[in-house]
Amino acid sequence: MERTAVLGRLGRRRAPLTWRLGTVTALRDETRHARTLVLDVPDWPQDQLAGMHVDVRLTADDGYQAERSYSIASAPEDTGLALTVERIDDGEVSPYLTEEVQVGDGFELRGPIGGYFTWHISDGGPLVLVAGGSGLVPLMAMIRHRMREASEVDTRLLLSSRSWADVLYQQELAAAPDQGVATYFTLTRHSDPGWTGWTRRVDAEMLSEVGPDPAQRPLVYVCGPTPFVEGVAGLLVDLGHEAGQVHTERFGPTGG
Ligand SMILES: Cc1cc2nc3c(=O)[nH]c(=O)nc-3n(C[C@H](O)[C@H](O)[C@H](O)COP(=O)(O)OP(=O)(O)OC[C@H]3O[C@@H](n4cnc5c(N)ncnc54)[C@H](O)[C@@H]3O)c2cc1C
Repeated sequence: MERTAVLGRLGRRRAPLTWRLGTVTALRDETRHARTLVLDVPDWPQDQLAGMHVDVRLTADDGYQAERSYSIASAPEDTGLALTVERIDDGEVSPYLTEEVQVGDGFELRGPIGGYFTWHISDGGPLVLVAGGSGLVPLMAMIRHRMREASEVDTRLLLSSRSWADVLYQQELAAAPDQGVATYFTLTRHSDPGWTGWTRRVDAEMLSEVGPDPAQRPLVYVCGPTPFVEGVAGLLVDLGHEAGQVHTERFGPTGG
């Protein structure tokens, strides 16, 4: 029933993508390099699914414009549209969004965009989410959607981060296992003494341990930098996952 409802919603002609002014209502530092911006966007379309993204457009006083894509971190059920931006040191847009924007400021957005890298509880599972760094953002929207709907879909998250200090949403992830979301972490550059988790790049052995068996045909979502996504997707297919079950989203500089 719910699946039919979602298909019905998507099947309808979607509202044209127009630029809307979003106003920042809250800011939250997630790590030293990443910040969540919560926005109020009047007339935001109701057809958002977990995993979608928005285009952000900034306009300078002289009229120069820059556009970037950002995944939606909040669940469709949430009030306020949350974006989590990681600062790229020599970047143009992310330093502004992570360091300069204040509550009450506004900028243009359009969306929600995307249809392939999305998950609704009626899609079922098992669900396997594999993230590299800020690639966690759209996967967190899926976890939040699952939690808001009190879904019991078998869900496993594998997050690869440079260090524990770089892990986004630490409090929510700490509580996730109590809500049936199994979490696995690997720290690729720095681990504190006492860290007992993995300390290497995602490999086939790790993915096998996270499971479940490819024979269960889990829905897999992989998001992160382009080389991470391509590497992990290749490993998953080598392990026996059907390519059509493995959804990918790349956060590369060009989005390609
Ligand atoms: C669909 C989609 C969703 C995205 N969602 C998010 C999100 O939720 N959170 C988020 O922080 N980013 C996200 N991104 C990445 C985002 O769009 C920008 O690329 C990023 O914020 C850098 O923009 P910038 O203007 O600061 O850097 P730019 O001025 O574009 O680039 C500056 C330098 O950084 C390099 N660079 C650019 N982007 C990256 C990157 N992602 N990783 C490593 N090096 C990079 C460039 O090669 C260049 O050397 C997403 C991208 C896509 C395509």
